[in-house]
Amino acid sequence: MRTIHNKNRKKKSVIFVGLLFLLFLISACAVDYVTGKHTFNLVSEQQEIQIGREADPSIISQYGLYDDPKLTEYVDGIGQKIAVVSQRPNLKYTFRVVDSPIVNAFALPGGWVYFTRGILAHFNSEAELAGVMGHEIGHVVARHGAEQMSKAQLAGIGLLGMSAVSPELAKFSDLAQMGVGLLFLKFGRNQESESDRLGVEYSTKLGYDANSMAKFFQTIGRLSEASGGGLPDFLSTHPNPADREKTVSRLAGDWQKKIDYKPLNISPRDYLKRIDGIVYGNDPRQGFVENNIFYHPTMRFQFPVPANWKLANLPTVVQMVSTDEKAYIQFALASTNSPDSAANKLVQDNQLTVLKRQNTKLNGFPALFLDAKLENETQSIRVITYFIEKDKSLFSFQGLTASADYEQNKNEILNTLNGFRQLTDKNALNKKPLRVRIRTVSNPGNFKSIMQQFGMKDEMIPELAILNGVEETTNYQKGDLIKIIQE
Ligand SMILES: [Zn+2]
Repeated sequence: MRTIHNKNRKKKSVIFVGLLFLLFLISACAVDYVTGKHTFNLVSEQQEIQIGREADPSIISQYGLYDDPKLTEYVDGIGQKIAVVSQRPNLKYTFRVVDSPIVNAFALPGGWVYFTRGILAHFNSEAELAGVMGHEIGHVVARHGAEQMSKAQLAGIGLLGMSAVSPELAKFSDLAQMGVGLLFLKFGRNQESESDRLGVEYSTKLGYDANSMAKFFQTIGRLSEASGGGLPDFLSTHPNPADREKTVSRLAGDWQKKIDYKPLNISPRDYLKRIDGIVYGNDPRQGFVENNIFYHPTMRFQFPVPANWKLANLPTVVQMVSTDEKAYIQFALASTNSPDSAANKLVQDNQLTVLKRQNTKLNGFPALFLDAKLENETQSIRVITYFIEKDKSLFSFQGLTASADYEQNKNEILNTLNGFRQLTDKNALNKKPLRVRIRTVSNPGNFKSIMQQFGMKDEMIPELAILNGVEETTNYQKGDLIKIIQE
C-alpha cells in the first residue's frame, strides 16, 4: 500500500490505511517499480507478461471464475482467432470468463483478457463479442497497460504487490476510486479510441460486421444511464458511448471498403443459444443478505449483519463496514488449518499485544477467541478475532476499529462475531440464482407484449429490453429468439 498515494487522502481513510496494514498487505507489497519517470519504452515485453501473470491471480480471487468450461472455451476461441489477425500474434493470450454480474471486459498487460458473465449475458450476437474482444486485445497490442503504468497512477497494480484484499477494502471508503482504478486499469480517451479502432479492424478482418460493435455502445449507454452513470473500463464514459457508436460505425464502413471484406455466415441466434442459462445478477449460492443476516448456502453458515452497515461479498472474503467507516468486520478463510497456528501468525506478523486468548466453542464449533491490540507511533487498533473450525476449514472472523472507537463499536462487532452459526433454514439453503433463458417467440407482437406472455413482471421490462438490445416497441416474429430472466 505504501506505493500508492493514499496517505494524502482525507482523514477518514486513515483507519483504513491502518487496517490495510493489519490485513497483511504489507508483506505482499514488495517491489518498487515503474514510476512516473520511466517511459513506456522501458517496460519490456517480458515485464508486461510478468505484470499480467502476477495480476491474474488477484483478478481471479477478486471475481472468481465463472464455472462453465464450454462457454469459456468458446470465448477463448474467439479471442485466439482475433489475436492471430492482431499486430502481436505471437503473444500467448489467456481469456477468462469471470463470475461477476457487472457488465465489463478488461485486459492486463501481456495478454490477459477478462469478460464478465454480465457482459456475455448482454451481448446479442457473436459480432458484438468479437468487437469488444478486439477492443480489449487492442489494449494489449498497443501496450496501453504498460503505458499507463509508466504514469505513477498504476504503480500499485504494476507490481501488483497488491493482494486481492486491498482494493476490495478500498471500495468501502474514499479509497474507492483508487481500488476501482487499479482493478479496471482506467485508460485514457486516446487509448480507448485507439482500441475501438483496433477492435473494428480485427473483427472486420475476420468477417464480423463491426456495426454490431457500434450498436453495443447503445447497450452501454443505456446501462450507464440506468445505473446513474460511472461504468468502468470498456464501459468507460469517456469518450461517451454515443460518440463511440458513431465513430465505430463510420470505421466499420471504412474498413469493409478497405479490405476484402467477406461477411461470416453466422446468425445472432447461434450466440444466444450459447448463453442460454447463464447466471444473471448476484448468485445467492455464493452468499446473500436477507433481513440483516448473511447466509452462505454453499458453505452452510450464517451470521448477523449490523443494521445499515455496508457489506461486500467477494470470492475470498466478506467485508462489512459501519456507516461512519470507523469499524470494519471481515470473514475470510484462514491461511492455515490450526486455530493456534493461525492465532500465532496473526500476533507475530502484526506484533499484536494480546489482551485475551481463549480456546472455546462458538455455537457448537471449535474456536479460538483472540482480543488484541495493534499499536505503533501513529495508531492503536483493537483487533477481535475468532478462528472457527467448520467442515475441515478454518475461518477467521475479525472485527477492527481504532482503540478510541472501541466502546462505541464493541457491541456490534461482538454480536456479529458471536452470531456465526450453522445454516439450517431450507429456504436459504435452496435459494437459486436467476438465469438468462433463451425462448422462441410463438405469438408475434412487440417486445413488451412478448415479455408479458412469458410472465415477466412489468417492472423488469426496461431491464429486459436493455438485455435484449431492443426497445419495448420492437416487433418480434414467430420463431425469433428472445431473452427472459428466470430461475
Ligand atoms: Zn477499453
